[in-house]
Amino acid sequence: MPTLSKRTEGFTDSVIRRMTRISNQYGAVNLSQGFPDFEPPRELLDRLAEVTKEDFHQYSITWGAQNFREALAQKQSKLMGRTIDPNGEIVVTCGSTEAMMAAMMTVTNPGDKVIVFSPFYENYGADTILSGAEPIYVPLYPPEFNFSIDELEAAFKQKPKALILCNPSNPCGKVFTYDELKAIADLAEKYDTFVITDEVYEHIVYEPYKHTYFASLPGMWERTISCSSLSKTYSITGWRLGYIIAPPEIIDTAKKVHDFLTVGAAAPLQEAAVTGLLFGEDYYKDLQKKYTEKRDLFLKGLDDIGIVHTVPQGAYYILLDISEFGYESDLEFCEALARDVGVGAVPGSSFFREDVNHLIRLHFAKKNETLYEALNRLKDIRKKISYRKP
Ligand code: GLN
Repeated sequence: MPTLSKRTEGFTDSVIRRMTRISNQYGAVNLSQGFPDFEPPRELLDRLAEVTKEDFHQYSITWGAQNFREALAQKQSKLMGRTIDPNGEIVVTCGSTEAMMAAMMTVTNPGDKVIVFSPFYENYGADTILSGAEPIYVPLYPPEFNFSIDELEAAFKQKPKALILCNPSNPCGKVFTYDELKAIADLAEKYDTFVITDEVYEHIVYEPYKHTYFASLPGMWERTISCSSLSKTYSITGWRLGYIIAPPEIIDTAKKVHDFLTVGAAAPLQEAAVTGLLFGEDYYKDLQKKYTEKRDLFLKGLDDIGIVHTVPQGAYYILLDISEFGYESDLEFCEALARDVGVGAVPGSSFFREDVNHLIRLHFAKKNETLYEALNRLKDIRKKISYRKP
């Protein structure tokens, strides 16, 4: 038999998605893979029902349906503080997963280096491998997940082609401050580097923190490839609708990469999602309020149980410290948690470049009743998972 590609030898399956399968196997409350168990806005579902009877069953324009791009340009122009051209500066993709992959393939050559902050969302590792690029990891230090400007500059000195910026950040919940972003921007300019952003949690930010779009920083529009998606904002992770926003010269190439990768995002779903893109400001305020309540409810529950955890500034993930259980493998701990306690989590090691085995990630994008059920199960965690002598 011939051998399979070398490029795929480097990665395992996604640990996040594996944990969903393990959770299902044990009937656990699945707080591993980050997706909601509540319904998307009714308006989107009503429009989706209508759309099935209309003429949206064939390909849309490869870089996105015209009305989708126009509605998106209108929404993002207000947020990003510049007029975005729906025809020349947007590509609609199959989720931000494809947006990030297409962005990487648009700017990197095999062998190019790319800066990735650690902890990081696991797809970035696979994205670099698939595009033949080599990651340079720069640590974010808990509890604030700050970076050292000297370590960052040392990474830039290695002449990377791009830096990947997940803001608000999965899994650590960091919302980068303006000053931190400005420091990154200055280095990107000094070392002439692209910045690829993943801003899928742009609307899930807790007071008093504020989201700053990297592309809106002085001089950064030209070198920023902004990736995001509708998944988290409208609770439609299964619709796989994402996008890239960038200057026309970059978008021209990204359009081709996207076209050959997927041809396009699903036409009926784009049409139905336009309804969401046209929502007024109240929708986003309500979303923020809803997630703030969930965060507070869940953090209070964890505090009552006495588990040490991070407090997210944005996104919907919490890292829990499991040192007290003495496990050497966080993966084994997560299996025990799903099996014996009935709660699904993701081992922290799948997000860290460093040797970290004492953290697990839970998310709280769930109905309050689901969160209460999870907390109820976690109450007896110390009885159900016994201390393991390392
Ligand atoms: N971004 C979500 C997470 O980190 C979902 C990941 C996925 O499976 N696409 O859990």
